[in-house]
Amino acid sequence: MSTESNSIDEHKIAIIGAGPAGLFCSTLLLEKGYQVDLYDQSSGLAKKFLIAGNGGLNLTHSENIDSFTSKYYENKSLFKELLSDFSPNDLREFCDKLGVETFIGTSGRVFPKKLKAAEMLLNWHKYLNSFSGFRLFKKYKLKEILKDKTLTFEYLAETKTIKYHQVILALGGGSWKKTGSDGSWVEYMESLGIEVAQLKPMNCGFETNWSEFLKKKKQRLYLKNISIEFGDKSVKAEMVITNFGIEGTAVYALSKYIREELERNNKALVTIDLKPDLSLEEIKSRFLKKKAKESMSNFLRRSVKLNKDAITLLNENKDSISPELIKDFKVTLNSVRSIDEAISTAGGVCLEGLTTNFESKEVQGLYFCGEMLNYEAPTGGYLLQGCFSTAFRVTQNFPDVTPRK
Ligand SMILES: Cc1cc2nc3c(=O)[nH]c(=O)nc-3n(C[C@H](O)[C@H](O)[C@H](O)COP(=O)(O)OP(=O)(O)OC[C@H]3O[C@@H](n4cnc5c(N)ncnc54)[C@H](O)[C@@H]3O)c2cc1C
Repeated sequence: MSTESNSIDEHKIAIIGAGPAGLFCSTLLLEKGYQVDLYDQSSGLAKKFLIAGNGGLNLTHSENIDSFTSKYYENKSLFKELLSDFSPNDLREFCDKLGVETFIGTSGRVFPKKLKAAEMLLNWHKYLNSFSGFRLFKKYKLKEILKDKTLTFEYLAETKTIKYHQVILALGGGSWKKTGSDGSWVEYMESLGIEVAQLKPMNCGFETNWSEFLKKKKQRLYLKNISIEFGDKSVKAEMVITNFGIEGTAVYALSKYIREELERNNKALVTIDLKPDLSLEEIKSRFLKKKAKESMSNFLRRSVKLNKDAITLLNENKDSISPELIKDFKVTLNSVRSIDEAISTAGGVCLEGLTTNFESKEVQGLYFCGEMLNYEAPTGGYLLQGCFSTAFRVTQNFPDVTPRK
C-alpha cells in the first residue's frame, strides 16, 4: 500500500466522480480559487454524459418553473429552491461560456446545437485545465472513506490512501455500469453512518408475457403519437415494443408509478391508445365503412392511418381487432427491467441525513451531489439539470478564497 502524505490543505478539495455533477463542482470551486483533485475510476471523463449525447443531449427544459419542478415528484419544493439558485437559463449561459450554443426544440426541451455531448466535454475539459489548481486522476477507484476523510483508492494494482479536509462525492447512480457508474459506493456508506435508499431502476423498461408471435419478432416496434395510461396518469408520446415488453419516452414518464405498483402488487396494468387523435366513435364509423374484400391491415393503414408497427401489435390479437382494441390495448406488466439498462436510478443518499448544502450531518466536510442523491425525475433534461443544480448548491458552502480567474 502506498500512502500519499497530503498535508491537509483546507483549500484543496477532493471530488470523486467525473460525470457532469463532479465536473461542475470542479469548475465552480476552481473559479472560487480552490485547488481541485478530481478522481474517477474510468479511463475517460463523463462516459455516461457522452452516451446521453448519442440520442441528442437533452440538457434541460424551457418550461415554467412550477411545471419543471413538478417533475421531481415529492422533492418539488426542494428543486424549486435549487432551480432558483441555478436555473435552466443559468445552465444555458454556462454552455455559452464553454462555447457551446444551445437551442430550444419544438417540445420545449433544450439541446446543444450540435446535439452531441462530445464538443461540450472537450471544451469543458480545456477550461478545467486552464486552472493551475486542477489535477485529474483517472483509473482511481474509491474503495473506502473513513470518517476523518481518509480516502482509499485502487489504482491499477496499487492501493493508495490520501487524506483531505473536504470531499465531494459525485459517484452517480447504478445503471449503465460500463460507464463507471456502478453503484458500488453504497457498500461503504453504511460504515460512515450515512443512510442510503435502495438503488432502483428509473426511466426503465418493463416486462410482460407477450404471445410467441411478439416474442419471436426480431425488430422492435416503434409506436409514435400514442398515449399510454396508468391509473389516473396518461402520457402522449412514443413508445417501443420489444420482445420482452415495453420501453421508450412515454413509458419512462410513467416508470416511477409503474415500478411502485409492481412493488405493491407484482403486476401493473397499462392501457395504450394507438390513435389518441381519433375518438372511439370516429373509429367505429370508419370500421362500418370497411369494404368486405379489403384486408384488415390495409384498412387500418388506409382508413385509420395506423403505422405498420401499430398494426403488427394489433395482429397479436388478430381475431379480435376492433375500435375498442385500438383505443384500449391492455398490457399487464409483471416486472421491471434490470437496473443496468435503466436511463437513471431512483434511491441514493437520503436527503434527511444532509444539510441544505448536501453536506453529511454525520461526517462534516463530506458532500454529495448529482444522481447519487435520493431523488428521481423523468427524462426530458430534468436529470442533467438536477446534477448541475445540486452541484451548484454544494459549492455555495465554499467561500471564495482568491479573486476569480
Ligand atoms: C442512455 C442514456 C441517455 C441519457 N440521456 C439523458 C438526457 O438526454 N438528458 C438528461 O438530463 N439525462 C440523460 N441521461 C442521464 C444522465 O446522463 C445522468 O443523470 C448523469 O450523467 C448523472 O450525472 P452524475 O455526474 O451524477 O453521475 P455520472 O454521470 O453517472 O458520473 C459518475 C462518475 O463517477 C465515477 N465513479 C463511480 N463510482 C466510482 C468509484 N468508486 N471511484 C471512482 N469513480 C467512481 C464514474 O466512473 C462516473 O464517471 C441519460 C442516461 C443514459 C444512460
